[in-house]
Amino acid sequence: MNLEQILSTIREEVSPLTGQGRVADYIPELSSQDPGKFGMAIETLSGESYSVGDAGDKFTIQSISKVLTLSLAFSQLGDKLWNRMGVEPTGNPFNSLVQLEYEKGKPRNPLVNAGALVVSDILISRTAYALKDLLQFVNELAGEEIVFNQEVARSEKEWGYINRAMVNFMKGHDNIENPTEQVLDMYYHQCSIEMNCVQLARTFLYLANHGINPRNGEKILSRSQSKRLMSLMLTCGLYDEAGEFAFRVGLPGKSGVGGGIVAIIPGKMSLAVWSPGLNDHGNSLAGIMALELFTTKTGLSIF
Ligand code: GLN
Repeated sequence: MNLEQILSTIREEVSPLTGQGRVADYIPELSSQDPGKFGMAIETLSGESYSVGDAGDKFTIQSISKVLTLSLAFSQLGDKLWNRMGVEPTGNPFNSLVQLEYEKGKPRNPLVNAGALVVSDILISRTAYALKDLLQFVNELAGEEIVFNQEVARSEKEWGYINRAMVNFMKGHDNIENPTEQVLDMYYHQCSIEMNCVQLARTFLYLANHGINPRNGEKILSRSQSKRLMSLMLTCGLYDEAGEFAFRVGLPGKSGVGGGIVAIIPGKMSLAVWSPGLNDHGNSLAGIMALELFTTKTGLSIF
């Protein structure tokens, strides 16, 4: 199978979609992204790398970071994590507040904002250096120095009224231990992690490798934890579009409003795609199409 060739065919086939969709505009720093950009990268466990288009351009990984913080919290807390949040899809947008009231401040799952905010709270309860530790963790996975985009983090904190409401609401239900501003600071910094597609695909190879960092053999998650985390990606990773994504792509994935999506083929490879034009669910329009084309053309999926 010529993956290089497949990537360039995908690039051609998605070109009618790039430039379409809406770039995230809730903060000025994201609204200036060019919707015409498209990049895709593949890293395999056997050490091969493939990329196409704007795969070297950096973007903020946004909600994709939820998988990284969840990995840290799951490895530290084990199944106690599930006392603070559930594992069911929401069928609602990523920043929806509506279920939280019915469910008394316990988020449905760790991959929507409410759940990720509780995960951030858990990480800062464990150490005074949670942000530094997160960056160190990401650097080790990426194999190079990764940084926060401080401008994006600052701007999100200024405009993020809904996330602030969510943290306060969960605090009212005793599901947040730390001060609201501290939790938001952690969360917005993780969202502002900047990477390109090649770095992103490399960073997520530990999931393809069932929880072991292939770079140094370090165990991040047990095989069972890695299975559970990817199951959550499959059922909740694209919010209220998770069913459609599973149907079209057939892989565990995670999206972010920066326009990135990662997807994992367990035991084989990780894929990262980026195109900032989003659909109504806040997921990359061309990104989903590219992943659908990839699994259709290669026959590689978990099914
Ligand atoms: N920073 C964004 C937010 O919290 C991340 C959301 C996303 O990528 N879906 O609203």
